[in-house]
Amino acid sequence: MNQYDALVIGGGPAGVTAALYLARSACSVLLCEQLTPGGQLLMTDCLENYPGHPKGIKGYELADLFAAHLEGLNIDRQTGAVDSVVGAAGNFAARCDGREYGAKTILVCSGARRRPLGLDREDALLGRGVSYCALCDGNFFRGQTVAVVGGGNSALEEALYLAKIAAKVYLIHRRDAFRGTRVFLDRLRQTPNVSMLLDTVISRLHGESGLTGLTLKNVRTEEERLLPVDGLFVYVGFEPATHFLPPDLNRDAQGFIVTDTEMRTSIPGIFAAGDIRSKLCRQVVTAAGDGATAAQAAFILLEQLR
Ligand SMILES: Cc1cc2nc3c(=O)[nH]c(=O)nc-3n(C[C@H](O)[C@H](O)[C@H](O)COP(=O)(O)OP(=O)(O)OC[C@H]3O[C@@H](n4cnc5c(N)ncnc54)[C@H](O)[C@@H]3O)c2cc1C
Repeated sequence: MNQYDALVIGGGPAGVTAALYLARSACSVLLCEQLTPGGQLLMTDCLENYPGHPKGIKGYELADLFAAHLEGLNIDRQTGAVDSVVGAAGNFAARCDGREYGAKTILVCSGARRRPLGLDREDALLGRGVSYCALCDGNFFRGQTVAVVGGGNSALEEALYLAKIAAKVYLIHRRDAFRGTRVFLDRLRQTPNVSMLLDTVISRLHGESGLTGLTLKNVRTEEERLLPVDGLFVYVGFEPATHFLPPDLNRDAQGFIVTDTEMRTSIPGIFAAGDIRSKLCRQVVTAAGDGATAAQAAFILLEQLR
């Protein structure tokens, strides 16, 4: 079994930063990523709030730059999902892609997945009109009618992105006001092919082999109506994936990992960074900042364990 100072789980902004900092501190590092490095950056069209890029930077460009920064550093890479972590500080064992690895510290940077609406047939219509990624699937709806559901920045950004592709975009939100940033809202209000449907929930999905429409319900009047659409993009929050971690690791009510300001979790030797962590602001800069802090805290522990 290969032994490492640190196992970093996830190759998004948090994991890449953590691996980079640890390798530069001469720690031996294994980075396990189940897909390709970049994480949610690969689902993001353009980041307008990444410092140093006043004109914005494409998500895939930033993901490529992050991956390129790892080249030449002493970091082992394994493609595969980590499906178990057991042990204690100085002596953890993790399984990734059927292989066992030993690590003195674990840095959990596994991010978050989109939460589904939880409607009947949502799974069956996934890839057949229902999507969680406008950047991946938006082009299938060129010139068509789509709906975006959600009230945060992701929903607003993706509605703006889809408005450039689709003929018509309905933005559906269950409350009477959006949580997202003002700049996106102002832009949406000036986009002629976007209509906002507030105080509205989706109560039913229609279509057999593909989505054909939504039943919408006004939460104030209880009135229902059918909205014909070709596509539905869901942005109603995140779901953390922590099933591979010990059950006694402290999580918040939504399942995100609770840490202190040094990214230490309730289990000594396990650190968590980025969107997987219980926190206010889930962004690339905060994920990278968490990654750097977690790496530094892990380094201090590794020094104590020597
Ligand atoms: C549509 C959209 C638009 C966004 N726009 C912006 C924006 O404009 N500005 C901004 O700053 N942020 C934006 N964000 C948020 C930003 O992308 C995230 O906050 C950031 O990517 C979080 O980084 P992370 O490393 O914590 O997690 P992630 O990016 O989610 O990366 C986690 C990685 O871990 C991997 N992984 C998960 N489980 C395992 C496992 N068991 N084993 C191995 N690997 C695993 C995943 O495959 C993934 O690559 C946007 C996100 C989305 C979806």
